[in-house]
Amino acid sequence: MKNYKHLFVLLILTVTTSCSTDESTINSENLDININLNRQSVGNSANDFLSDSKFTSLVIELVYVDGFEPNATSISNFVSFIENRTYKPNGITVEKRGIISPGLENYTIQDIADIEIQQRQNYNSENKLTLWVFFADGEAATNTDSSSVLGTAYWNTSFVIYEETIQNLSNSPFQPNRSVLETTIITHEFGHILGLTNLGSPMEVDHEDLEHPKHCNDENCLMFWATESSNGLDAMANMTSAPALDNACINDLIANGGK
Ligand SMILES: [Zn+2]
Ligand SMILES: [Zn+2]
Repeated sequence: MKNYKHLFVLLILTVTTSCSTDESTINSENLDININLNRQSVGNSANDFLSDSKFTSLVIELVYVDGFEPNATSISNFVSFIENRTYKPNGITVEKRGIISPGLENYTIQDIADIEIQQRQNYNSENKLTLWVFFADGEAATNTDSSSVLGTAYWNTSFVIYEETIQNLSNSPFQPNRSVLETTIITHEFGHILGLTNLGSPMEVDHEDLEHPKHCNDENCLMFWATESSNGLDAMANMTSAPALDNACINDLIANGGK
């Protein structure tokens, strides 16, 4: 018997540009590091990620609450996605670690930002670009009975994945495969970091969904908003891989220094 309850769960992949702090800290041990460079609006560093003109390597600081580590397959899918779209000739490194639960029942974006401020160890320096990804053990504070946020990009080198919510919505009959769902949300949020859609990588042709700003209007594209819909989740139950970027999105990335 199909469990229709899950069909009514709206999955919302969000992007926010409203979260910022005034903090501008210089690391006393290394005066070349300006933390503020990693606290800008989503999409501001799209070209830094895509091209190698400034940054030739990338370090992904992947931090999860113990018990909420993503599948190794999802991480390797994510690295492949980055390799396929960006130029980082000196390599992409994943630094993964678990932390104890912050003890919150749910998370506002400010909570998520505060955890990053406390825990993040890697900041941009010289030719090394850094990315922070946090896998949370609680749901987004904005969730309702009918909609759940699965991930949010909130700064130019930062996004959060609501891993507890993903675990609750995957790997049961008629639910998506967990790694497919994780890969979808991770690469969708990273797509916003790369400036999609119309969020720092200028559009070569007009393909922004005006009813769902900063998303692509191609329903088969990774950056389509309804990857987040009940229909999207239902369809994903039969998918063996995450949705790909369409040509319109890829062309925007190429035009902004990527591939
Ligand atoms: Zn989105
Ligand atoms: Zn697209």
